Amino acid sequence: MKKDYYEILGVKKDATAAEIKKIYRSLALRYHPDRVPENEKKQAEEKFKEISEAYGVLSDPQKRELYDRHGHAGIDQNYTAEDIFRGADFSSVFGEGGLDDILSQFFGGGFSSGRRRRGPARGRDISYEVDLTLEEAFTGLKKTIKVPRNEVCRDCQGNGAKNGSALVNCPTCGGQGQVLMNSGFFRMAQTCPDCRGQGRLVKEVCPGCQGRGHLKHVRSIDVNFPKGVDNDSQLRVRGEGEIGPGGAGDLYISVRIKGHDRFRRVGNDLEETVLVSFVKAVLGGEIDVPTIDGKVTMKVPAGTEAGKVFRVKGRGMPDLRSEEPGDLYVRVMIDVPKRLSAEQRRLLEEFAKVSGEPVEGPTLKEKIRKVFK
Ligand SMILES: [Zn+2]
Ligand SMILES: [Zn+2]
Repeated sequence: MKKDYYEILGVKKDATAAEIKKIYRSLALRYHPDRVPENEKKQAEEKFKEISEAYGVLSDPQKRELYDRHGHAGIDQNYTAEDIFRGADFSSVFGEGGLDDILSQFFGGGFSSGRRRRGPARGRDISYEVDLTLEEAFTGLKKTIKVPRNEVCRDCQGNGAKNGSALVNCPTCGGQGQVLMNSGFFRMAQTCPDCRGQGRLVKEVCPGCQGRGHLKHVRSIDVNFPKGVDNDSQLRVRGEGEIGPGGAGDLYISVRIKGHDRFRRVGNDLEETVLVSFVKAVLGGEIDVPTIDGKVTMKVPAGTEAGKVFRVKGRGMPDLRSEEPGDLYVRVMIDVPKRLSAEQRRLLEEFAKVSGEPVEGPTLKEKIRKVFK
């Protein structure tokens, strides 16, 4: 008869995760095989394994719930001892890799080299795309995204059987997972078609998940998008991927910046086009130039030609790493007036005359139009 995990650690049924961790840490230090004299090593090792298994289950909310509901059977049906050790977060107790040597003693080596890689599969990573505006990329922001992922069905705790009832031995293969087929002279072992090699069957399918053991669940996740985030920036959120026996995979968020109707982004720089009145272009002056977060006053020198590009330093996008801003490049286009008052027209004609430039007056058509207005 297996001992109760709570009893092994000497904690109450409602102990918090922090309490369990604290108790386990002190027990582990006492029974750590490296810390006991040679003649007590064997016993300490057994004890250490026992408390580590208890911690492995009780420190994992999913396994703990399963254990609370179904006892050891709930755990044993779903996890091997290796699953429990590999899935548990020992690194926060002992520091990264601190337990690998001990565990390799339990499981005969090969454990320390890449515990994560060799362990039971983690859940798949999930990729997710987020559209941000250029303004959002400029300021950076915290955004809650809703990501669907498969989670263990609460009704059956993932075994697919109604109310999580125990699985039964497959009658076809007697629980072996294989059936023998006669093929000429040979008898060949084949994967049992009824239980697909599992050896066990669900008696009554869980209505909550139709026996799949998992359900789509939409999770709200707060993500910090840093200043200067750009197209193809990828953010990783650990542990928010699909859940597998070896733990959850990661969530990869790729960012797409929506097009902007004023600014074009080139790396950390921004480009825009502004209109300058032809008078200012000729005489010089100051103009207000929109920036991504307001406006600046920019000097336009006398005699500025259309298409001339000015640089406004430090008004581009912040660098993703250093937050050092790029520059804003302002292309000037000349705003040619489409309508002139009689006075404006007269002055321009005067200007032309002084410049020795022949000016055509209003055409006959225009004069007639004026008369009939
Ligand atoms: Zn279910
Ligand atoms: Zn079978």
